[in-house]
Amino acid sequence: MAEPLFERVAIIGIGLIGSSLARVIRRDSPKTHIVACARRAETLDAVRRLKIADETTDDPAAAVAGADLVVIATPLSAYAEIAAKIAPALKDGAIVTDVGSVKEAAIRDLLPALREGVHLVPGHPVAGTEHSGPEAGFAEMFLDRWCILTPLPETSPDALAKVTALWQLAQMKVVTMPAEHHDRVLAMTSHLPHLIAYTIVGTANALGDDLKSEVIAFSAGGFRDFTRIAASDPVMWRDIFLNNREAVLDVIQRFSEDLTALQRAIRRGEGDTLEDWFIRTRAIRRSVIEAKQA
Ligand code: NAP
Repeated sequence: MAEPLFERVAIIGIGLIGSSLARVIRRDSPKTHIVACARRAETLDAVRRLKIADETTDDPAAAVAGADLVVIATPLSAYAEIAAKIAPALKDGAIVTDVGSVKEAAIRDLLPALREGVHLVPGHPVAGTEHSGPEAGFAEMFLDRWCILTPLPETSPDALAKVTALWQLAQMKVVTMPAEHHDRVLAMTSHLPHLIAYTIVGTANALGDDLKSEVIAFSAGGFRDFTRIAASDPVMWRDIFLNNREAVLDVIQRFSEDLTALQRAIRRGEGDTLEDWFIRTRAIRRSVIEAKQA
């Protein structure tokens, strides 16, 4: 059997994304030794029950000792503290990657702690669900989705190739782009839609009680889809908005201008404006389906 891509992998943060990756490694690289790290005993109990790691620990430094690959898969707000804890324990030549949804902030919080000879390959598998924790993970989550890697100019091509191969094992399509570009694209495709969902569901929640119960009863009219998105992890999304502030504020500004334009068209009874708009958006949906991202 061929040598595994990595002999020893430490996954710091073994929730939805970390545990899904652990399942992929278990499935496709059974010789790889997996160490899982989280803070709470119940998280680590679940990991042992699910048999998705060879070792569990609540100590990030112990987790990374001897690891060829370290995957940081916690909420973004934990990154700086984790980087400080793991840095002295990393072996020479270790590759550190992450799965965080904002890339400039990930680099800001990880890179300064890492010494020369340790390779940082920031990454974002663009896949997921609204659920959290190790029980919610599954290996097929990544199938045919994009993984965006945002290497730095100094990132070693060898480290980049190995992290690319890891996500290809998960059957992802891997691309690279600058972190700043990633953050602007994701502000539009992911962060703004989540903010809109959180807003709509919050607005409905603030309605009077009788109206609110009807909103829930008749939610299939469109509201239901927003409730799924607005059920996403509160800590993770707090961190995304705080860490991608400028790009998110920019798309909110554009969105509110467009909302105002549609509001005006409704007030003035401008049916053509509305219909033209909806024809254009329907075409976008077709492109998403053609790109197999529906
Ligand atoms: P999750 O299911 O809540 O998992 C987070 C994990 O991190 C848990 O195992 C948690 O366990 C652990 N953790 C939290 N703080 C920690 C710390 N200080 N030290 C060690 N472990 C810690 O979250 P997730 O959805 O997998 O998201 C993880 C990362 O993936 C985030 O950065 C997010 O931006 C990114 N991401 C998420 C999605 C998505 O759809 N969910 C998609 C792509 C990328 P304990 O609470 O027991 O410590």
